[in-house]
Amino acid sequence: MTGMVLAGVEKNGLVAWQFAKLAAFEGLCHGVFGRRGGVSTGPFASLNVAFSCGDVPENVVRNRTRVARWTGLQKAVYLNQVHGDTVQVLTRETVAGGLTTVKADAVVTDARQQLLVIQVADCQAVMLFDPVRRVIANVHSGWRGSVRNILGKTVDIMVRRFGCRADDLRAAIGPSLGPCCAEFVHYRRELPRPFWPYQDHRHRFDFWAISCDQLTAAGLRPDFIVHSGICTRCRSEEFYSYRASHRTGRFAVVIGLK
Ligand SMILES: [Zn+2]
Repeated sequence: MTGMVLAGVEKNGLVAWQFAKLAAFEGLCHGVFGRRGGVSTGPFASLNVAFSCGDVPENVVRNRTRVARWTGLQKAVYLNQVHGDTVQVLTRETVAGGLTTVKADAVVTDARQQLLVIQVADCQAVMLFDPVRRVIANVHSGWRGSVRNILGKTVDIMVRRFGCRADDLRAAIGPSLGPCCAEFVHYRRELPRPFWPYQDHRHRFDFWAISCDQLTAAGLRPDFIVHSGICTRCRSEEFYSYRASHRTGRFAVVIGLK
């Protein structure tokens, strides 16, 4: 991968990318999986982790197993993502209860050995980590999530439920639709007025900047926020992109405490 932010890490023949700023923390596991290294075929080739897009379920299971094996963590939580703003809290008790799929667009936990997975194709997956309290979150923030400020809500729950300090939190925004490709012709009815300054003359919006600003508004330090700078639509050979092709898979962005 080009750029300084993400570095490829190969394990068991599978490559995932890591943010240097998160990889530096002991006991934290994270990875951005592209579309290579899986068993799915056709428009879903090859590491699709989503059941909902029309892929062969057996292949999705095998892909999810490959992702889990790369991380070495025992359990994984996949969200039933609905472009809402529900934040699921996983305590050590709910994890022990065997919870595996929840309807939410963000998930927070302090439990170890619990992989939090976000599935995306253009939407942002945003990982959060508190190295002091040892709390993690993974957030699905497409444009509807941005409108609902699910990032701010997730930070708020980390603070209120887990005693995190917002200025301790690290954030990493995964590959997603960039300002080069996020054209919103109908922005006047789809996006709130405070978002309008984030566009260029062709109504292309910088949702990376919107997320950075939502996170700093929630109390994060700007120097603790990193984004990949990679647009999924421009790099659709490496990442699934819904705007590049509506019939496509979802790639996995994962974070977990070892
Ligand atoms: Zn682009």
